[in-house]
Amino acid sequence: MGEFELIRRHFMRAKPGPAVVLGIGDDCALLRPSPGHQLAISSDMLVEGRHFFPEVDPAALGHKALAVNLSDLAAMGARPLGFTLALALPRADDAWLADFSGGLLALADAHGCPLVGGDTTRGPLNLCITVFGEVAPGQALRRDAARTGDDLWLSGRTGEARLALERLRGTGWALASTEDHALCRQRLERPTPRLALGRKLAGVAHAAIDLSDGLAGDLGHILSASGVGAEIDLVALPVAPDLQPLPETARLECLLHGGDDYELLFTAPPAAHDAVLRAGTASATPVQRIGRITAAEGLRLLGPDGRARPVNARSYDHFA
Ligand code: ADP
Ligand code: MG
Repeated sequence: MGEFELIRRHFMRAKPGPAVVLGIGDDCALLRPSPGHQLAISSDMLVEGRHFFPEVDPAALGHKALAVNLSDLAAMGARPLGFTLALALPRADDAWLADFSGGLLALADAHGCPLVGGDTTRGPLNLCITVFGEVAPGQALRRDAARTGDDLWLSGRTGEARLALERLRGTGWALASTEDHALCRQRLERPTPRLALGRKLAGVAHAAIDLSDGLAGDLGHILSASGVGAEIDLVALPVAPDLQPLPETARLECLLHGGDDYELLFTAPPAAHDAVLRAGTASATPVQRIGRITAAEGLRLLGPDGRARPVNARSYDHFA
């Protein structure tokens, strides 16, 4: 199977979607954004050994590679238009490619985000996806848009992906929990990008970020970009049943520093409280108010007694 046959067999689709004037096969793809809209663009690279295990299920890998990119569009309040895939493969393994593109394109279809081009080369397994989306002017959910007095909101819940990862690593505290592993594993390997919620929040919320490196660390990006601080009410954090039996330090580690959550963390003025709840209902996505934005810089965790507890603000850093 040559390079073009590989692309034709695994990555080309008959109908590429309404925003695609020209898809795979020419020197460039041509996209048609809605008149007057801004382009939202994001890339993420996944490297074997660093972002996934060599023995990972290829369908789950295809899903996750696109999901993490769509999550970035969600966090901007953008609507997807299409994506490109740059792929380095050690060999042209037909069965592996069929599974990989199956997982990838199923998620693409589910969100109306067609594959419009890319590049394919031989090399150590490595994939880079670039997504293109659109958002109306002034509606993008930027990290620098949090304001003092805003409520701090979280979609879904955090920590299950981290618990699954620690179980795969064989970490003692993670193995001690006896709950069903399948759900956590699903959260780790097949995250759901919160696109519908993100679009409903555009023009309603102020700042947003998607959680890839842990709630506390990612919140830090909003705080420094906006020049504000925040308080989190620990009792308001949703806790998955799987996390409940964990020792408190391990539970807080998962909730606040877990990583791979792909939930949306966002701020909105108190006057938008009901509009945020409606956005959650309309997108069938749970949303929970977990704290507030403060003029005093830094992050404070408030315990059940309302007293501040020490916070560990680190998040995952590839070069730390
Ligand atoms: P070029 O030489 O112009 O870079 P290529 O020969 O690399 O073109 O690719 C041929 C066509 O196939 C292009 O339209 C390109 O976007 C597309 N393509 C290549 N690799 C992939 C891939 N992994 N997924 C989707 N489209 C791809
Ligand atoms: Mg090329």
